[in-house]
Amino acid sequence: MALKHDKSHDAFTHACTLMPGGVSSPVRAFKAVGLEPVFIKSASGATITDLDDNTYVDYVMSYGPLLLGHAPEPVTAALSKAMQRGTSFGMCTLAESRLAELVIEALPGTGALPGVEMVRFVNSGTEACMSAIRLARAATGRDKIIKCTGCYHGHADSLLVEAGSGAATHGAPSSPGVPRAITDTTLLVPYNDLAAVDALMQQHSRDIAAMLVEPVAGNMGCVSPEATYLQGLRDLCDRHGVLLIFDEVMTGFRVAHGGAQQLYGVTPDLTCLGKIIGGGLPCAAYAGPRKLMELVSPAGKVYQAGTLSGNPLAMAAGVAMLEALRDGAVYEQLEQTASFLELGLRHERDRFPDLPVQFNRVGSMLTVFFSDKPVRNFADAMQCNTARFAAFFRAMLEHGVMLPPSQFEAWFVSTAHDEAAVKTTLAAAAKAFEAAAAVK
Ligand code: PLP
Repeated sequence: MALKHDKSHDAFTHACTLMPGGVSSPVRAFKAVGLEPVFIKSASGATITDLDDNTYVDYVMSYGPLLLGHAPEPVTAALSKAMQRGTSFGMCTLAESRLAELVIEALPGTGALPGVEMVRFVNSGTEACMSAIRLARAATGRDKIIKCTGCYHGHADSLLVEAGSGAATHGAPSSPGVPRAITDTTLLVPYNDLAAVDALMQQHSRDIAAMLVEPVAGNMGCVSPEATYLQGLRDLCDRHGVLLIFDEVMTGFRVAHGGAQQLYGVTPDLTCLGKIIGGGLPCAAYAGPRKLMELVSPAGKVYQAGTLSGNPLAMAAGVAMLEALRDGAVYEQLEQTASFLELGLRHERDRFPDLPVQFNRVGSMLTVFFSDKPVRNFADAMQCNTARFAAFFRAMLEHGVMLPPSQFEAWFVSTAHDEAAVKTTLAAAAKAFEAAAAVK
């Protein structure tokens, strides 16, 4: 029996009269999968419930922040307490220092380079990346930056060039309203292509401030760095005096407690964080060694500020979250659940030998690509059969599983995804691969 979405339909029709496209962020519109969005009423653990009382196993997980699932007790308890003390002060609190300590502890750096010694809190990943670039430009006295096609670093003007998921799904890799003069300072390379970075650095040797990269790409779908890629970037940056910025907004505290820099043993000059560090509230940060971070105002001259930065509710949620993640068992559990899910999905797909699928997974990030070729960069991702993905998505939804509504997003596994949740997912996948295989 088809699920009913009548209340969501009415809510969406109304929302469309009030907000562009009826949403607060484009990917939420479900356009890429040919549906109207469902409206959410509540969520708990691994599940999310819509206005029509359909409950789904959720792999959107708010696009990454919810590593412990929806409304985990340590976070909600900390929030209730913090709320009683006031919601915003515009002044210093102890919680900011505690969250900074927890970030610094997790990202100590490896080898000779210092990792994170100081942190500046902001409100979104967009702000974190935009501000890290400003800092890199100030520190080097250079203007240009390099980014990878298909990596997304938020919607700041200079970064909205070939920006992956949301933009790709809507067929607008860069946006009207972004001045060419600004994007002219952004140089593009394919992900996982060291030779392209080498060539650009040689050509513009004295002009490049920073190489900004998602150390595990998550915004073209999940794409892992090849064996020598991140160390190769580190070496090239060192050779040319370019700062290496890891955008760990998605991967930080997800692929390992110390993020991708711990997992791959490569220390960047600056790190951008977001999502998990706010425990589901708006919070992000840029961070790095003292000598760079002390250039930021008011210690230094690089201006960056925010009315709600370090907000006490976001800090309380973030502290509760990161305290819980100090327990290494969290990451073992995530790996076990995600590998069980991946194996199960492969098994279900095997019943349709004519349906080409690539399974890309790094820890608790996973993408099922409908393609016959390995996906190692954005061009590969763009070869996917998005009509098959849309059919797969719709069948998963119909059978009680909420995926991110785009081929170019990662699914997020949380510690709340138990065996029952994965089994529901695999039962749905059996039907959904059949639906995808029916699309020619
Ligand atoms: N960087 C990465 C890697 C992201 O995945 C995102 C958002 O998905 C951002 C930056 C932007 O973060 P925000 O949406 O909080 O502005």
